[in-house]
Amino acid sequence: MSRYWNSRTKGLDPYVPGEQPRDRKFIKLNTNENPYPPSPRVTEAVQKVLEGKNGAGEDLRLYPDPACTELRKAAARNLGVKPTQVFAGNGSDEVLAFAFAAFFESRSETHTTGGCLPVLFPDISYSFYPVYARLWDIPFTEIPLTEGFVIDPDDYRRPSSGVIFPNPNAPAGRVLESKVILSLASYLEALGKVLIIDEAYIAFGGESVLPALNDHPNLLVIQTLSKSASLAGLRVGFAIGCEDLIQGLCRIRDSFNSYPVDRLAQAGAAAALNDAGYYAAINSRIAAARQRVSSELKKIGFTVIPSYANFIFARPSRISGTEFFLRLRDRGILVRRFDRERIADYLRISIGTDAEMDIFLEECRNILKEI
Ligand code: PMP
Repeated sequence: MSRYWNSRTKGLDPYVPGEQPRDRKFIKLNTNENPYPPSPRVTEAVQKVLEGKNGAGEDLRLYPDPACTELRKAAARNLGVKPTQVFAGNGSDEVLAFAFAAFFESRSETHTTGGCLPVLFPDISYSFYPVYARLWDIPFTEIPLTEGFVIDPDDYRRPSSGVIFPNPNAPAGRVLESKVILSLASYLEALGKVLIIDEAYIAFGGESVLPALNDHPNLLVIQTLSKSASLAGLRVGFAIGCEDLIQGLCRIRDSFNSYPVDRLAQAGAAAALNDAGYYAAINSRIAAARQRVSSELKKIGFTVIPSYANFIFARPSRISGTEFFLRLRDRGILVRRFDRERIADYLRISIGTDAEMDIFLEECRNILKEI
């Protein structure tokens, strides 16, 4: 704490991302990055911006297109919507932060008019949601997942200022069918509230609600190029929804930073979206590896939650999650674990290349032999 911090800064509980080690080479299965490189078209497009018209990086002298026109067009083509239904931001984390600010009620806006209903999200989910809620002073209620880490959409049929959850959910990887999500959207629409579905992992399994977007003016879908397009380093995410919602996000962005997506990111991301075939191939490889690793882990006594994402949520038997995590780390393999009571013994294992997953499985067997 510093005496120079205001009370807002003092009251924050910032998100702690997975480790990005610099000192040692690890097999990195801890932040759900895609293990395969991005499409070669991405590097070509970025290179073209760097060179500029005269080969001297001239384009970087100028601000980027604040509306991300070409990028939004590419995303719209890819997703089967209109460009006016797409908002682009600096990673989906930024888009999520803007969406919390735009659509969920904060205490400060309502203190003169009385109480303020909470936003609802699952208790075991993306741990950035409570952080955004605190940042914008939005009250929230965490709804417990059912046994087996499943979201029961009926639990969200109660007074709220809106609902958000990922599908597939993180870190457990379970999915909900579109039809139950859309039924919740209709319930919330009648109350004038927004439903945000964070589809960060939808390319790896499950069914997107995007085809039903035009029937649900209160439905906002968030997607990212970080995982499915191997571009976590470029920082590009999207919100897709009806034009009213997109305009709301633009109001927040333009009250904060008019140019959140830089020139390199706009060009590289558009190129990625135009190479769907390349990504379908690498992502189906990841889904196949997920199935193989899940069944191998079960054979050696792990409890494995059925996952539709690019990670597996699993608990070793006869050894605590912390101990297993540390032993993997000693062997040069990084996975993620969370210090929350109900999931303290689970590990979230991002899917790496086939060769990395062979080494991971081998080391898991070795650890279990030792104990
Ligand atoms: N949503 C979920 C559910 C995530 O797990 C992540 C990745 N940490 C994000 C959003 C953010 O992804 P990015 O900011 O890289 O687009």
